Amino acid sequence: MSVKIGDLAMKLGLTPKELRDKILELGFELSPKARVLEDDLAELIEDDFSNSPDSEVSDDVADVYDEIISQERDRELVKSQRKQTAGRDVKDEKKKSEVQISHMDSVEIHDSITVKEFAEKTGINIAKVIGELMKNGILANINQQIDFDTAQIIAQELGVTLKRIRTDAAVDDLLAGDMAALLKEEDGAVLKERPPVVCVMGHVDHGKTKLLDTIREANVIATESGGITQHVAAYQVVKKGKPITFLDTPGHEAFTEMRARGAKVTDIAILVVAADDGVKPQTIEAANHAKEAGVPIIVAINKMDKPEANPDKVKGELTELGLQPEDWGGKTVCVPISALKGDGIDELLDMVLLTADMENLKANYERDAVGVVVEAHLDNNLGPVATVLVKAGNLKIKDNVIVGDSYGKIKLMKDHTGKSVATAGPATPVLVAGLSKTPKSGDILAVVKDEKTARIKAEQIAESFKKTRDEKMSAANQIIASVKSDKLLKLVIKADTKGSLEAIRQSIAKIKDDEVAVKIIHGGVGKVANSDIMMASASNGFVVAFHAGFDSPNVKKLAERENVEVRSYTVIYNLLEDVKKFLSGLLEPEIIEVVLGRAEVKQIFFHKKTQMVVGCKILSGKIKTKAKLRIIRGKTDEDEDNVVGIGEIESLRKGEELVKELGSGNDCGIKYKGEIVLEVGDILEAFEEEEHIRSVS
Ligand code: GDP
Repeated sequence: MSVKIGDLAMKLGLTPKELRDKILELGFELSPKARVLEDDLAELIEDDFSNSPDSEVSDDVADVYDEIISQERDRELVKSQRKQTAGRDVKDEKKKSEVQISHMDSVEIHDSITVKEFAEKTGINIAKVIGELMKNGILANINQQIDFDTAQIIAQELGVTLKRIRTDAAVDDLLAGDMAALLKEEDGAVLKERPPVVCVMGHVDHGKTKLLDTIREANVIATESGGITQHVAAYQVVKKGKPITFLDTPGHEAFTEMRARGAKVTDIAILVVAADDGVKPQTIEAANHAKEAGVPIIVAINKMDKPEANPDKVKGELTELGLQPEDWGGKTVCVPISALKGDGIDELLDMVLLTADMENLKANYERDAVGVVVEAHLDNNLGPVATVLVKAGNLKIKDNVIVGDSYGKIKLMKDHTGKSVATAGPATPVLVAGLSKTPKSGDILAVVKDEKTARIKAEQIAESFKKTRDEKMSAANQIIASVKSDKLLKLVIKADTKGSLEAIRQSIAKIKDDEVAVKIIHGGVGKVANSDIMMASASNGFVVAFHAGFDSPNVKKLAERENVEVRSYTVIYNLLEDVKKFLSGLLEPEIIEVVLGRAEVKQIFFHKKTQMVVGCKILSGKIKTKAKLRIIRGKTDEDEDNVVGIGEIESLRKGEELVKELGSGNDCGIKYKGEIVLEVGDILEAFEEEEHIRSVS
């Protein structure tokens, strides 16, 4: 059977030329003189026209396509067999390229590709590509973009291996703030050594700022541009020909804030301890922050020039802290220094390089850049500017970027000395300008291919930020969710005295649970401060305040903003009870069923295997797309609803329009999925299941 092109064109409201173009676009070859089409193809084209671009391809159309493809394959097989007997046919270039491809190791493509480009690159016939896409439920013309994952699926089925050239950072990874996923490389061979990123922490007045200044003054070569005009929140020094990057914000607050945003920036922490003062509360706090983040610690015993310096006393205190010095048989590197006089700085930098070597720090230099914002502000002349630490790739001037929910084209880039630079590689800090708005520290920067992509992705990210804000889980539920995955309940404890802190520690150590462990990530004496909140936020733990209030009203506000649970206790027993409740509650979340409404099946439109399309009238409540359905058929002998099975609503229509939900009194079309075959008169009860974590009071 065949259909005349002219007839079909008229039916579709096209000229024959337009129809010919459409057929070519679908990937079929058509001779200029062709007047008729096979029935199957005609039907396919009609379907293509009646489907809106994003509607699903029905199994029937896909089957027809399959059939056509397999017929084509048979024809090709016969052709090639004929050729084999007739000897080699050198004229068939197309066939030849296909054979060549099958010998290729892999074909490299970017994050997305048009169907046409895909066919060209892999040497596979366009019709086959379109057919394969159809089999997978995607109706695409030759100019349509398909993403890498889709291309991968088809390629596998067609026997071609694809390799991804990473350019545009995946939005999902960006959305999740998942730096590890963004930096993941399938091929380890592309990774090369990169400089370490170091931060300086310690108690107030122990010399953090002085140390950072001394290192910078001794090692940063001033540039001709007249020094630093813009503050770059990180700098780089070169030691033994190897660069080291220092974050220029001393203290663990900045470190933890970034970690709370999900960005692991620091590779090594230098813990500054004054030799005349010893280990102090913030030393302990800083050490705990670094330990919790899994960052190696090098201790700088500072102020060695002072007559009252007592490094042995410091080493003893470090041992108590679990940081046993190397020369005392432990593993912690301790370097005596004087930040004031510059003594011991070379040794300290040597130790940084040595530790970096052991950490095996690597990055891909060849890809489009991904980085993290270390600091950002609004500049009077330049607008929003940010110090960005490049994590991988080369950041270039004029690159289109997304930074958190802002975006832009980099119009200016300065290194830490204030010199304009055109590119910046891994672990290099640069100040960038050209962004749509001021990002936040910890935001991820990613290069994308063009301005439009940057804008669209940034909008998606802004949308998702808003959504997470709106749907913010309660602090307790957040902890529970994280504990469920890590099997670890993390606590930051602040107590009024050393004695009560010790008592709490000992009692908590006695709590035993087979599945979940309790870990005190930090314990200190005093009121709850910002850094306690940020630490709990970064680790998804909660803060226990024992006879201890907030350091200031701002701390309370920060806790609310960061969604951190702070619980106050005056009796240890109550604290332990709560911890136990947390643990037991974690193990069995309650599933609560919420009934939405009922509808009656009035008509069956379509039925295929486990799928049906039925016409219904909503009797009560509401019906939602994706809701579960209880199928009720009459009554039982006890006059209760006779439930015959469970199904699911795949989609919901009012008339032609797809809708999310519909209320009582409406007629609707339900696309149903389930084992039970629906009958006219069935009552469908829609319900949702909500997972309720037992609340801890
Ligand atoms: P930070 O609060 O940890 O950043 O401490 P600073 O760097 O501001 O130093 C606090 C004080 O200690 C300043 O007066 C410094 O000059 C002084 N200081 C820092 N390092 C040394 C040192 O090695 N020797 C001596 N004698 N004083 C130092």
